[in-house]
Amino acid sequence: MEFGLSLLCMKMKFLVFLLVLSSPCKFIQSPMDFGPLSLLQTTESASLDFGRIYFNTPSGVLRPQSPKEISLLLSVLSSSSFRVTVAAKGAGHSINGQAQALNGIVVEMDYFPKSIKIHKNDKGLSFADVSGGTLWAQLLEETLKQGLAPFSWTDYLYLSIGGTLSNAGISGQTFKYGPQISNVLQLDVVTGLGELLTCSPSQDSELFYGVLGGLGQFGIITSARIMLQQTPTKVKWVRAFYDSFEDFMKDQELLVGEMADLVDYALARICITLEIVAICKPLIFQVLEEVSRRMKFMPSLLFSVEVPYFDFLNRVGMEEIHLRKIGLWDVSHPWLNMFVPRSGITKFKDLLLDIISPQSFEGPVLIYPILRDKWNSNSSVVLPESDTPEGIDNIVYIVGILRSSNPNKCSTKCLNQFLKLNRNITMTATDPLNGIGGKQYLPHYTEEEKWREHFGNKWERFKARKSSYDPLNMLAPGQAIFKRKS
Ligand code: FAD
Repeated sequence: MEFGLSLLCMKMKFLVFLLVLSSPCKFIQSPMDFGPLSLLQTTESASLDFGRIYFNTPSGVLRPQSPKEISLLLSVLSSSSFRVTVAAKGAGHSINGQAQALNGIVVEMDYFPKSIKIHKNDKGLSFADVSGGTLWAQLLEETLKQGLAPFSWTDYLYLSIGGTLSNAGISGQTFKYGPQISNVLQLDVVTGLGELLTCSPSQDSELFYGVLGGLGQFGIITSARIMLQQTPTKVKWVRAFYDSFEDFMKDQELLVGEMADLVDYALARICITLEIVAICKPLIFQVLEEVSRRMKFMPSLLFSVEVPYFDFLNRVGMEEIHLRKIGLWDVSHPWLNMFVPRSGITKFKDLLLDIISPQSFEGPVLIYPILRDKWNSNSSVVLPESDTPEGIDNIVYIVGILRSSNPNKCSTKCLNQFLKLNRNITMTATDPLNGIGGKQYLPHYTEEEKWREHFGNKWERFKARKSSYDPLNMLAPGQAIFKRKS
């Protein structure tokens, strides 16, 4: 019951966790000729996402059976005079309609055939070639059969490969292995012009890095090559509580810095719990003793449990079952995620404590550090920068304000208030005059000017990539970055 727990924690002082924590096909009435393609008019699933804030209805849905079908759709549309847009939809777990296409066409990648092939290269490194609509949970189940798993995760596994790679894919392993986009060797992509291209750091690298974190703007990922490592069967999951924000932050930075070799996962909640996970290996007890000796949590509030690796990774999946039972999963989720440089994190925490009332907050607030040098600066993701006397600070915090809007307590008016609050937080945190220096993760803006500010010195490269790979601005209209050209 993580959401309930977080509410409780908001009332306490500070607490930290250490974790290893259709109908038959119908042709859409359209003058365009898609040859053998069937576009469905069953648009309900394509107008819905986890956020339940936007419900944009497309005029048709493609449930593709091969990359060629996606290619055909995009090449016909890009050579026609119709100003139609196309959005790939993975698991539809966006918050702000990012996978929707008002009056356009949604390509439902969850219907794309699942394919997972595990290989070893000539250097003995294992990797999986996995199709774009596959869920991370499905990939994990398959790789575990060979004692393997991807390096980097999200908290929740029922997200698609293509969906998280279009953003970044982060969690408590990111400090160690980088985001999911740092663990990809190659991609197969259908560009906005309908070209089927394979790209990697050494082949069409602008497309490769552009697509990683590229918010679906440059092409539809049909396959990704994901690096794998040997997996543990069990992990030690430790939860520690703090009564001082400063100690909580210092310990987190200790974990991801000097002690990074000892732990495998570190994620914290602002309530303030720190979760640490260490893979069960010989000397695990000495490792945990060393971790405990150097950290400043409240000694009487340290809890640990040994769990199978899968159960640890699937912890939010278990939470989902509970929330579904009590009717609190399919509700609106006015979530906000921000990257905040270390220099602005205390101010940002103060801003949140000023603005958010624990009495009206349902859901967790996550806060944990990641390391800039684990991210490839050629990818489309924007991390905030902050200078120190030694150069740009390597530590950046990710803060997730994951509010649920309980329909029994919160009307449309109240949901709109939460959305306004998020806009205010974003405005304050991104205004250079306020000394926080934040950037949104899973960004949501509706004006080009705001996107330009968001991308900063990466804007021109982002725009150039768009002109190369989707010159008509057909793809991912739900991100509201570019307007469809005629
Ligand atoms: P969708 O919502 O379907 O799509 C997202 C965007 O990607 C859209 O613009 C879409 O057009 C595009 N897209 C989708 N598929 C493709 C494709 N094949 N090729 C190109 N573009 C594509 N994120 C984290 O980083 N860490 C977390 O721990 C985390 N936890 C989460 C927990 C929950 C319960 C939820 C709801 C979300 C969480 N997220 C997390 C956010 C999540 O990573 C993003 O919302 C991600 O986009 C979801 O993937 P999806 O398959 O649902 O994407």
